[in-house]
Amino acid sequence: MSDQPFINVHTHDVTEYKGVVRIFNFLAGETSDYPKNSYYSVGLHPWFIEKHHHEDLMEKIAQWAKNKNCLAIGETGIDRQIKAPVTLQQKIFEHHLNIAGELQKPLIIHNVKAHTVISQMIKTSHFQQPVIFHGFNNNRQIAGELLSKGFYLSFGKALLNPKSNAAMILKTFPADRFFLENDDSEFDISTIYEMTASLRNQSTEELKKIVADTFNTCFLP
Ligand SMILES: [Zn+2]
Repeated sequence: MSDQPFINVHTHDVTEYKGVVRIFNFLAGETSDYPKNSYYSVGLHPWFIEKHHHEDLMEKIAQWAKNKNCLAIGETGIDRQIKAPVTLQQKIFEHHLNIAGELQKPLIIHNVKAHTVISQMIKTSHFQQPVIFHGFNNNRQIAGELLSKGFYLSFGKALLNPKSNAAMILKTFPADRFFLENDDSEFDISTIYEMTASLRNQSTEELKKIVADTFNTCFLP
């Protein structure tokens, strides 16, 4: 059991670390430095959609997404706290949904105050692959809604505050429905695991095993 890796399902750090399997989030248009020989996800982040010629970029994303090391499409989604119009964000999100649907790859979701519309769009498109809401720190009711739709949640640095929604929710969250990540934070994924293990009252080794199982189910079926 001790040879289970840490799984970092969403990170912006391109560096590879021993004992860690990670999905590097390749921000299309923002960098050309993505790992060709290890796992990544690719998408046009809502924060950057007005900065790029999105028609061209979406075509490139569709190509980058075909690589076997591209395990997911994203992060993509809707953010109600940015200037970009929600209608435009929806259009771009729909494009990602279509790419993920065609390639049958999971989606990594960036959601800010938009889980209802995101869920509705996923439902309307009859998308069948795993959907992961990353950086989850919303309330228990929203967690329950997303779980009931079959989605996965990924938890990160918010956990390190024991009073956060993330920490409260993860204590009793179903073992086969969550991931862990360090996103763009300076925290090591092992720190996120240690906090999670203590919140869930289990060993880090047990935790590594259950997250690795979920990872294999979702991303390497
Ligand atoms: Zn991110």
